[in-house]
Amino acid sequence: MKKVSLFFVGLLTVLVFGLFGINAKADSVSSTVNYIDTAGVVLTPSTPDSLSGTLGSKVTIPTPPTIPGYTCTGYNESSSSGGSSGGWSSSSYLILGNNEVLTYVYTQNPTVKYVDTTGAALTASAPVSISGTVGSKVTIPAPPTIPGYTCSGYTENSSSGGSSGGWSSSSYLILGNNQVLTYVYTENAPTIVSRTAYHSDTNLPQYQFFALKEGNRADGLYSAPFGTGSATVLNTDAKNYDKTIVYADEYVTLSNNTSYSHINLNGNWYWVNSLALSYEATENNGAGNYPISINMYNKAGEIRYEIDDVKYKDQFLQAVQQWNKALGVDVFLQADNDHPATLTITDNPNLPNTTPAQTDPPHGVKNLITGVIAWKTNLSLNTSIVGQGNLASLGTIEILYLHELGHTLGLGHTGDGGGNNSKIAAWSWATAQDNDVMWTGGPTNDQEVLTSQDIAAAQLVRTLKMYPDF
Ligand SMILES: [Zn+2]
Repeated sequence: MKKVSLFFVGLLTVLVFGLFGINAKADSVSSTVNYIDTAGVVLTPSTPDSLSGTLGSKVTIPTPPTIPGYTCTGYNESSSSGGSSGGWSSSSYLILGNNEVLTYVYTQNPTVKYVDTTGAALTASAPVSISGTVGSKVTIPAPPTIPGYTCSGYTENSSSGGSSGGWSSSSYLILGNNQVLTYVYTENAPTIVSRTAYHSDTNLPQYQFFALKEGNRADGLYSAPFGTGSATVLNTDAKNYDKTIVYADEYVTLSNNTSYSHINLNGNWYWVNSLALSYEATENNGAGNYPISINMYNKAGEIRYEIDDVKYKDQFLQAVQQWNKALGVDVFLQADNDHPATLTITDNPNLPNTTPAQTDPPHGVKNLITGVIAWKTNLSLNTSIVGQGNLASLGTIEILYLHELGHTLGLGHTGDGGGNNSKIAAWSWATAQDNDVMWTGGPTNDQEVLTSQDIAAAQLVRTLKMYPDF
């Protein structure tokens, strides 16, 4: 008996171990892990999870993989033998069943937008994010700071409640599918950071002269710098006055880095973007040439000249006649004993060979008898190059004088880049940029026409009686 019993024990042992060995292979379950959104649409994480184990084993549910724009809000699983469903935590587990299916459920994160009051998109450097399950009540995060703007409210498309309007720390929304939270920002009114008088010569009124230069711009004319407090639109279209001469007494720089100039246009004062002026003085600290600067008028509003025995006297006198006719008054007159000259006309063959004509910078002259200080200057023609080559024609020589006399009337150059050519495009108020007689380019093809703007600019000097008061 004892022997027989030992045999049976041995057999059972073999059977039991054998059975276990076979079953271990058969019980390694096949499993599937799925990812869907709350509408059942399949999502694909870049690093999916996997499940493995034997039938009936307890398996920790892996951390849900990250899917951009979504938050895992739960899972379900098909284990027939227990485990848990719902919100995932690090202790979530399941009991592996046959054909185990684990499905992570993701909720699409609400879209958060930032717009200005016109609906234009803004960018927050530290955007907010919101996540949660559909139907959950979520506190709306404090609006992120966007420089130059203030959040004035928000809208959201929750169908199931929540609130809209001005944000407060208790604002909330009920998360829905395709939830969109939109913060609305109002641009802060710019403030005046600095106020600067335009540089001007002490012998002239405290003005700086420009022409309106609208080009492709679309500036308005305002009662105050645009965007600041009480600015109202006085004229929507500065283009109507393009190339009209204006004068300005000051400019301001605003907190939004724009600059506005206070201009007088046809007798009325306006504020206009400084970029709409012919010379962007605010970018150049007032340096450079302007359409109008110092002139050679005497107190009576005349320019008295004395003329040497110059080679092209006829061309000079024709230029004088052209200007006098254009201005409708004999501004240029010969000096006499009672009317001393402020302008001397000479020939100067020693000028640089790139300078066909020159009006010297005016200099003060003290009359020893009267003690009066007056401006006086010299206008000279470079006779070593004038009369030859492309300066041979008498018409061209007359234009040289026309141009120089323009300077004595107070006209600067059009087309000057001033101190910073990379910023200031060459510009003229002539219809064709290169034919204005006051164009800076050169004396041949570049300067031909005494334009209506040249004449208007010279007339403005007279209207304002900008005669040096000696
Ligand atoms: Zn010149």
